[in-house]
Amino acid sequence: MPRTTFLSKFHVSQTEAFRAFDAVCRELRDVGLMKGGGELEGVECEWHPEGIGSFGVSGCGLSDFATEGYYWNRTIHLPAWGFWFGSADGIRNVVRHEFGHALADIRPKPFKGAVFRRAFGAPYGRRKVARFRSDWEESCVSKYASSCTQEDWAETFMLFLRNKGRMPARFRGLPDIEAKWDATHSILSKMGWNRG
Ligand SMILES: [Zn+2]
Repeated sequence: MPRTTFLSKFHVSQTEAFRAFDAVCRELRDVGLMKGGGELEGVECEWHPEGIGSFGVSGCGLSDFATEGYYWNRTIHLPAWGFWFGSADGIRNVVRHEFGHALADIRPKPFKGAVFRRAFGAPYGRRKVARFRSDWEESCVSKYASSCTQEDWAETFMLFLRNKGRMPARFRGLPDIEAKWDATHSILSKMGWNRG
C-alpha cells in the first residue's frame, strides 16, 4: 500500500514492524550471525501501538532515525510513532541498530577487549563521550553514534550489516571510521560472520 499521507511518514504498523524484524533476522542468518538455537535467535520484537519514538531529538540528521527503538532484556521494542520517514529501510535500520545492542548484551566479551577498545576509544558502555561532538563527521558514522560507545557500536553495526561489510565510499580515507569498521569485521568474524 502506498504510504502517501503526511502522518503515515511517522507511523509504522504492527505488520510493518514485524516484517522489518523478520527481514533483519534473515540478513543475520545470511551473514552467519544468527544460528539455529543460538542466543541471538531468542531475541524478540515488541511493537507498541501507543509508543512514541524520539521525535524532535534536536540536531539529529537523517541518519539518526535509529534513535526510535530501544533494546531491553532480549527484546527489541519498536514504537508505532516515530521519525520513520515512511521508509521500510528506515525501519529495518532501527532493527539493525537494536540488534547491535543485543549482540553486545548477549556476547559481551569482545566488547570489553582490546580490539573494541582501541577502535571505539573505551569498552562498550563504559565511557560517555561528549554528546554530539562537533567533529563527529570525521570520527563516527552518524551524529548519534558520537554520543557514547554503545551508540557508536550500534550505529556502526547497523551500517555494516546493511552493506554486508562493504564500507560506504563516504567514509573512505577517514582513519577513525576505518578503524571502527575493521574492528567490527574482526569482532563479527569471531561470531560467525561469513562475508569478505
Ligand atoms: Zn541505540
